[in-house]
Amino acid sequence: MTRQVLDTLELGKRPEGRTLISAAWVLGHRDGGHRLVSNGQLVIDGGEVIYVGAEFPGEVARRIDFGNALISPGFIDLDALSDLDTTILGIDHHPGWAKGRVWPRSYVEAGPYEMYSQEELAFQKRFAFGQLLLNGITTAAPIASLFYREWGETVAEFDAAADAAGDLGLRVYLSPAYRAGGMVLEAPGRMVPVFDEQRGLAGLREAVDYIGRQTGRHGDLVRGLLVPDRVETCTGELLRQTQAAAEELCCKIRLHMAQGSMEVDTVRKLHGSTAPVWLARAGLLSDRLIAPHATNATEEDLELYAANDVSIVHCPLVSARGGSTLNSFSKCRERGINIAMGTDTAPADMLMNLLVGLITCRINDQAPDRVRSADLFDAATLGGAKALGRGDIGRLAPGARADIAVFGLDDAVMAPSIDPITTLVTGGSGKVTQAVFVDGRLSMRFGEVAGIDMKAARQRAQRQFDGLIAKYPDRSWGHPPVSDLFPPSYPIEGNANG
Ligand SMILES: [Zn+2]
Repeated sequence: MTRQVLDTLELGKRPEGRTLISAAWVLGHRDGGHRLVSNGQLVIDGGEVIYVGAEFPGEVARRIDFGNALISPGFIDLDALSDLDTTILGIDHHPGWAKGRVWPRSYVEAGPYEMYSQEELAFQKRFAFGQLLLNGITTAAPIASLFYREWGETVAEFDAAADAAGDLGLRVYLSPAYRAGGMVLEAPGRMVPVFDEQRGLAGLREAVDYIGRQTGRHGDLVRGLLVPDRVETCTGELLRQTQAAAEELCCKIRLHMAQGSMEVDTVRKLHGSTAPVWLARAGLLSDRLIAPHATNATEEDLELYAANDVSIVHCPLVSARGGSTLNSFSKCRERGINIAMGTDTAPADMLMNLLVGLITCRINDQAPDRVRSADLFDAATLGGAKALGRGDIGRLAPGARADIAVFGLDDAVMAPSIDPITTLVTGGSGKVTQAVFVDGRLSMRFGEVAGIDMKAARQRAQRQFDGLIAKYPDRSWGHPPVSDLFPPSYPIEGNANG
């Protein structure tokens, strides 16, 4: 029955008139917090939620019952994977500097180049946006690696990304990432920062122009966010001008910091302190700042975040896989720090991240009782909305935008359903996402995404990624062949000719 009524809706479009959706559970919002409504109903009209409760008294154009499912606010992903993830190449191949993750001097001198064409850059964002929707993510602040780039991100690919968000129906906060510097590998294991401030300032000007042109497009799905790259690639002047521009544009700033030992060492050498302390002294910590990942934050750094209303973006999957962790999620909450969530890596699965976040927090706390599944769920919804300064997303209540994810609770591979939030977080997989509405538009329906054929796109993405891997020797120390950079997990036997 669900499928039949859903199939009458046009993918990518807002249904005409009021649509009532119901399920065993609806996660509504009242008095500042989420509320579970048993056998609940939710009514959307245009792009807005007009009712959440047990029995809608008015007339509706159609009813869709999802049965044993949770109707939830869509997830807000503030470090949203938006390329074909290259960090997975490093999962079993170390150290990063020897595996193409730091530019060797020889590559810098030969002249760094874009390893993808503009068309490929545009395609990978569209494909990644589709993956986010498949996982119930309705708002995304894209992140992509700059390692395979000539320098920063380009306006052309972000113009295409804004259009992709409009075509697919994904709420986005974005502009091209810029930087005033980078790390160069001078000898095995010896990395030094190099700077070109003018290039960074030019990147900022392009981003400001982009935000001015794009904000509000596609029915306000597209908004601006200034995204200087990692803190160690920025100069003080670039960050000061970024802050001034953000104030003028009334937008937020996302800046990676307190996230790695290379960054901590580099910033200490350059500025004599940690990055948060450096920024605090410059008056650059505020509620405008959204700062992934805080995995290397000191007590003092966290105190500064709390005192200045800086939001953290927690991406537990990519952090834990790299051997680091936010220590800890519960302690940061107790300090009063707002925590948002991010996927940042493949798979772009928020539920998987919530499970890893729950597990790593409990390991760090050495106790199971300081964090609950709902705390992680709050971060992926209300925490993200707060970081963006929005009271109309990340929650389902009358007047909120109709950004909705429907998660099945009776999937054969999942744990028995007890409490829907605990079950979903413990299940750890976004594959149970059945439907996604963004701003009232049906953006995803049982694996079908508006504006893209995900099966065909997956094949194209693989070809594109294989082409990128073939170029890795160009920018790896000593230029070893791919087979030495990324040897297989086990020796490969069989016909070498295929
Ligand atoms: Zn990140």
